Amino acid sequence: MKTILNYMNGELTPPAGGRYLDNEDPSTGKVYSRCPDSGAEDIERAVAAAEAAFPAWSNTSAEMRGRVMSRIADLIEANLDPLAEAECIDNGKPITLARKVDIPRAAANFRFFAGAIQHAASEAHMTDGLALNYTQRRPRGVAGLISPWNLPLYLLTWKVAPAIATGNTAVAKPSEVTPMTAFLLSQLCTEAGLPPGVLNVVHGRGPAAGAALVAHPRVPTISFTGGTVTGAAIASTCAPMFKRLSLELGGKNPNVIFADADLDQAVATSMRSSFANQGQICLCGSRILVERPAFEPFVARLVEGASKLSAGDPLDPATEHGALVSRPHMEKVLACIEVARREGGEILCGGRRVQPPGQRCAGGYFIAPTVITGLGPSCRTNQEEIFGPVVTVAPFDDEQEAVASANETRYGLSATVWTRDLARAHRVAGAIQSGTVWVNCWLLRDLRVPFGGMKHSGLGREGGEDSMRFFTEPKNVCIGMR
Ligand code: NAD
Repeated sequence: MKTILNYMNGELTPPAGGRYLDNEDPSTGKVYSRCPDSGAEDIERAVAAAEAAFPAWSNTSAEMRGRVMSRIADLIEANLDPLAEAECIDNGKPITLARKVDIPRAAANFRFFAGAIQHAASEAHMTDGLALNYTQRRPRGVAGLISPWNLPLYLLTWKVAPAIATGNTAVAKPSEVTPMTAFLLSQLCTEAGLPPGVLNVVHGRGPAAGAALVAHPRVPTISFTGGTVTGAAIASTCAPMFKRLSLELGGKNPNVIFADADLDQAVATSMRSSFANQGQICLCGSRILVERPAFEPFVARLVEGASKLSAGDPLDPATEHGALVSRPHMEKVLACIEVARREGGEILCGGRRVQPPGQRCAGGYFIAPTVITGLGPSCRTNQEEIFGPVVTVAPFDDEQEAVASANETRYGLSATVWTRDLARAHRVAGAIQSGTVWVNCWLLRDLRVPFGGMKHSGLGREGGEDSMRFFTEPKNVCIGMR
């Protein structure tokens, strides 16, 4: 059995308390590795290592920081296959998805911020010939980075890269459900020559290691991606300590499809936006709203596609639909489907646990792609995040109704709009309350754009300039000129 270790001060280190958690392969239900069950003592050691590394790293030139980060990106690319396999076994996602999306995007995160820091500019303001103001942006010290299980390496590196590019040092706490790629990354960081203590990775449960990191008095910056309930608990710890906090939280994203849309594209992309990674992407659309004239043909084609999307062994490159991440998560999603049934929803396909062909995955946590209809916008199924391969479909009669339904949740992470009417696309994109609106596409990302959620989907924005500002402290220097 593989043993995952913490990464502190450049060394792989067992947890202080000697306790470990079992790590299951969700496609088989079998334990295949164990990961540290770290606590406050480990966080203290990691923070001390990060503090000790801060003076030298924050004074290292941007060029040198960028070089080390580019080497990390090179090594991630060179290790594409082992990293993709590790993520597939840890998470249950199809290996082809890990190979094509998660791992290349993790490398892209390091490469992007390695370059971005070379081009960072700061502002200067001349005050009527009286004074010159300019802004210094300094790294803030030790950053605490907490990430979820759904895109483990991609979302972890999305935080690590801007934090260390801007001269901070970091303590990362990856999800205890999927720790393996963060462990492999720590080894690549050593190989790339990242100085000891610049990045420290502490594995363990959220309420233990995660909470200790959030509450640590010498960690002034916390960047968190995960569930809304966890985000609220973290915010309540950070607020009285005046920490800088970024929260990327849950979603209940609408897909709004007008009758004039290119239906072929809308169906094909809605298949992906509903079921990619078994619906376990925060940006998946889970409420599909279709203008009435297109409703029947759209739903018929979606159901046909979803019924053909059969579960397979995630390690098979041909598999498109893998396992859910864990037994508790599978049970939560099945319970949500039961709620939908009780609310009067009609299950058009899926709605149950399935088993892929072959013996290897006989004990795995698979749910068939599920499409539900007959539910109004205010029921629980359309209000609560399910985070699985489950979507609802409902008709609407006009633009006003579509926007009202789209906005009728406490979340506001992302949305997609499908129409050929340019003016309507702009109008509806402006009216939907979400941090990202994709028009006639989904999941296209430009790392320069602000990314984050409105309402209960988050606080602050990540991406390009926003991330670099988040991890730095602006200071105005005013020079009198008379
Ligand atoms: P989660 O909130 O349970 O856990 C996320 C991380 O927080 C884990 O590392 C966990 O150990 C840690 N944690 C848990 N309790 C903690 C506490 N009290 N203090 C500190 N840390 C704690 O979320 P999850 O189940 O891992 O991930 C799924 C959720 O993440 C979904 O709601 C999804 O929408 C959301 N998500 C959001 C985005 C986004 O960009 N907005 C991206 C991916 C996932």
